[in-house]
Amino acid sequence: MERDPNCVFCKILDGEIPSAKIYEDEKVLSFLDIAPFNYGHTLIIPKYHAHGISDLPEEYRNAVFAAAAKLAPAVMHATGAAGFNLLMNNGETAGQTVPHAHLHIIPRFADDKVLLGASQKQYQGTELAEMQAKIQAKIAAREA
Ligand code: AMP
Repeated sequence: MERDPNCVFCKILDGEIPSAKIYEDEKVLSFLDIAPFNYGHTLIIPKYHAHGISDLPEEYRNAVFAAAAKLAPAVMHATGAAGFNLLMNNGETAGQTVPHAHLHIIPRFADDKVLLGASQKQYQGTELAEMQAKIQAKIAAREA
């Protein structure tokens, strides 16, 4: 759907809630995150209400990532960041608090201690091959 009247990001799109806009085109709006991990933390939202990447129409999905490629260098130069993360939380369990698909551009600085706490696991025995087959089967079933 184009808009959800209860969605905070749809309200930003409709100008009902202000935002510090940094970029806009036909398909996306980009503005500063109100509670940044680092100053300059930027959000890109599609002008279409979908919860996450998988239910976002392709033209909006492409526009969000095209905007990220364009805006991230500007965010880096403006902030003096040494790098950046592109982050997209999909689902509450993954940390999504606003159920309107959006991409974060998070400028990063040496030793900024942002996004800590992740630990990587190790597959044992045949677990990796089993997981590979399971996901591939789901992809094949969806494409069939
Ligand atoms: P997520 O946790 O991935 O759903 O990210 C939602 C982000 O939206 C958070 O980083 C919030 O700080 C940000 N946010 C929520 N409301 C606003 C707002 N009115 N203006 C700017 N950023 C917002």
